[in-house]
Amino acid sequence: MSRLADLYAEVESCQKCALAQGRNLAVPGEGPEDTAIMFIGEAPGYHENRLGRPFVGAAGKFLEQLLASIGMSREDVYICNIIKCRPPKNRDPLPNEIEACRPYLDRQIELTNPRLIVTLGRHSMARWFPKATISRIHGKPARFGELIVLPFFHPAAALHQPKYRADIERDFGRIPEILSQLETLDEVQLDQPAEQLSLF
Ligand code: URA
Ligand code: SF4
Repeated sequence: MSRLADLYAEVESCQKCALAQGRNLAVPGEGPEDTAIMFIGEAPGYHENRLGRPFVGAAGKFLEQLLASIGMSREDVYICNIIKCRPPKNRDPLPNEIEACRPYLDRQIELTNPRLIVTLGRHSMARWFPKATISRIHGKPARFGELIVLPFFHPAAALHQPKYRADIERDFGRIPEILSQLETLDEVQLDQPAEQLSLF
């Protein structure tokens, strides 16, 4: 088995937080072993919990449309969530759940080695920008060592709110340019606050 497959097997039987009790299927994530872009959402919802795959409901359809708008499909990118099991009634993930699940995401990032991580919504954003407000920093890439992190609104929020929808559509449109500029970005240290990161 590949190291990613080993990781998926661990996630599928994980009991490290209370969400294990209420889940149908854990949703480890999916995508190429060696990916240029990783998208990180919030948590599995109703359909994801049923099928064990990320972004397979309405938000997933919208994500697929957004990818198509830049000539990509979901098979081209890695897609996962900040936590791997569905919270009851889709409530927000709790800090202790995010913390318990963090080692899985860490290993996913290490194994798939993305050059660009796009965070979808404020929970995955907070991992890299703990004090930031999404409405202020969405669409602005920041460099953390070798990695570029680009915070976006969550597609489930953007789907039905015209203002956010226009924002996420515009932000998606910048991905090709950002990918092509990756090599030329300045180095920025991890411990600098988000406001001081070099944004372009
Ligand atoms: N919303 C998310 O954040 N993740 C999913 O997988 C589906 C909906
Ligand atoms: Fe384990 Fe993460 Fe699921 Fe909690 S959410 S049971 S830590 S896989």
